[in-house]
Amino acid sequence: MGFEDMDVDTIWLDGEFVDWEDAQIHVLTHSLHYGTAVFEGIRCYDTEDGPAIFRWDEHVERLYESAKPLELDIQHEPEELREATEQLIREQDLPSCYIRPIAFYGYDSLGVSPKDCPTRTAIAAWPWGAYLGEEALEEGVDVMISSWRKHHPSQIPTNVKATGPYVNSMLAGEEARRNGYVEAIVLNKDGQVAEGPGENLFLVRDGEIFTPGLSESILEGITRDSLIEIARDQGYTVHDQASISRGELYTADELFFTGTAAEVTPIRTVDDVEIGSGSRGPVTEELQQRFFDVVERRTDDYEEWFSYV
Ligand code: PMP
Repeated sequence: MGFEDMDVDTIWLDGEFVDWEDAQIHVLTHSLHYGTAVFEGIRCYDTEDGPAIFRWDEHVERLYESAKPLELDIQHEPEELREATEQLIREQDLPSCYIRPIAFYGYDSLGVSPKDCPTRTAIAAWPWGAYLGEEALEEGVDVMISSWRKHHPSQIPTNVKATGPYVNSMLAGEEARRNGYVEAIVLNKDGQVAEGPGENLFLVRDGEIFTPGLSESILEGITRDSLIEIARDQGYTVHDQASISRGELYTADELFFTGTAAEVTPIRTVDDVEIGSGSRGPVTEELQQRFFDVVERRTDDYEEWFSYV
């Protein structure tokens, strides 16, 4: 669904609330040319106690951390971003939504050095359902190993959520879709499993859970972190610094993706090879169920992860 079909009318831009269609930037904006923006994707869930933002503090912390290596000095305090976000949710009557803060180098000159460009910040919020489709949550998705490799952390900071590296995600995802798959799995420069274009990956084998470690060229996903905690609390052993080879994907009992957009999505085939029974596995189902019970607040557990609007 495109923005034109959505009932949203306001964007927060550099400290002001502006009409949706007036949230414009100049075509010579530095970050548009060089991919030097940093951003976040955050979900707010519809709960009995009203809209609940999932892990706001961790997302905002990652936004400021992402800005650091780019020497991008966000001109607003985290508290101002929180108030702006809450007002966007309240005033647009969004029971649930996806929240997109972005900080970028603006318009001044187009040398690669952004030194005289102003730092600008925007926040938008809009309704967004299941990223890979409702059906995907139950049935699982068909994925392929991308022919593109993820950058090595010595080439670009892979732990940072900057816009430039998403060229890699876009290429991998579109290659998969062109070939009839829903999503890609991207290997790192050494050929070990890194992650999806916008998701972290988990593997289940013999009742234990594995996910690539931080040195495998992954983004340290906040859903990944949540899933690790939930799985451990459910009694599972989780190896969160694993190194997973391509071959181990095909022989896994279960695989699933996690991400703010993708939530917890089972993977049913990789390169047309059925994973386990070729449908959502029991461990994935249990953790997915628990995840949705948590984020939709059907339990009081993990209350500290939620900010109510
Ligand atoms: N890896 C990549 C490359 C991503 O874009 C995302 C989405 N932000 C993730 C992993 C998952 O991170 P999170 O759970 O924080 O959304």
